[in-house]
Amino acid sequence: MLGVIQTCFKETTLPELPEVEVVRRGLEATIVGRRLQRVIVRAPRLRFPLASDLDLSMAGTRLVGVSRRSKYLLLDFASQSAADDRAGTLLVHLGMSGTLRFEPAAPPPGRHDHVDLVFEHGTLRFRDPRRFGAVLWHPAHDGPIAEHPLFARLGVEPLSAAFDGDALYAATRGRKVSIKQFLLAGTGVVGVGNIYASESLFRSGIRPSVAAGRISRERCQRLAEAIRATLSESIAHGGTTLRDFFGSDGQGGYFQNECLVYGREGEPCRNCAAPIRMIRQQQRATFYCPNCQR
Ligand SMILES: [Zn+2]
Repeated sequence: MLGVIQTCFKETTLPELPEVEVVRRGLEATIVGRRLQRVIVRAPRLRFPLASDLDLSMAGTRLVGVSRRSKYLLLDFASQSAADDRAGTLLVHLGMSGTLRFEPAAPPPGRHDHVDLVFEHGTLRFRDPRRFGAVLWHPAHDGPIAEHPLFARLGVEPLSAAFDGDALYAATRGRKVSIKQFLLAGTGVVGVGNIYASESLFRSGIRPSVAAGRISRERCQRLAEAIRATLSESIAHGGTTLRDFFGSDGQGGYFQNECLVYGREGEPCRNCAAPIRMIRQQQRATFYCPNCQR
């Protein structure tokens, strides 16, 4: 029911920020408020080892909210009574191939179905063939989730009020790395993956190889707006795909026909008709128009 969307592109089938946000919205609309009955862990090791006592830590708590930090889903669980001090946050990262699906009547697990959160009236199942995903329990008494070490070096959220042209300008000063690599690194702003970096740079007319620190304030303004627009549109499409694939395995052609430059090497620029170029930056494909992007 809660499908997870994968892009059509082989290189980038990993879930990016828009896909994760779509899943977050789906979870929020579907299972917040439900009581967790038990946790079944079938694979003790994903990207990190899974706690063997996850069921003891969590069973009987209630899901009270789902938020997101970068590509981590944060499922907040509250205790049921004052006598029970168990509460905390389950961090879920979909890695390269993870999906979270809510099944009102879960079928028998397949070999890649590693974790089941059994709620009243349904099961939230984590499936991850390549096992680069993560499921981590963070007890509330360990401190605020925002201070978790995984989040220590992350940049600002691109869809938050804290992200704008001024913030991008400030974060890029003195940086000699290319703007494409700066975006992918996630230390200035999180969630701008490979597709979205190429698309946003095209929309703002910025050549991906330009040193981040040499981009003017005005161009940073345009780039910040392009990033927000690209991600927002993609989330809107993901939402559409989620409805389209309701009840299926969630494999979709999401964002497929919307790319302006990504995956279009040699094809005419949609703005000026010059052939789109492809270069590799740190082993990742970058697409741009040599005419429109300076
Ligand atoms: Zn062009």
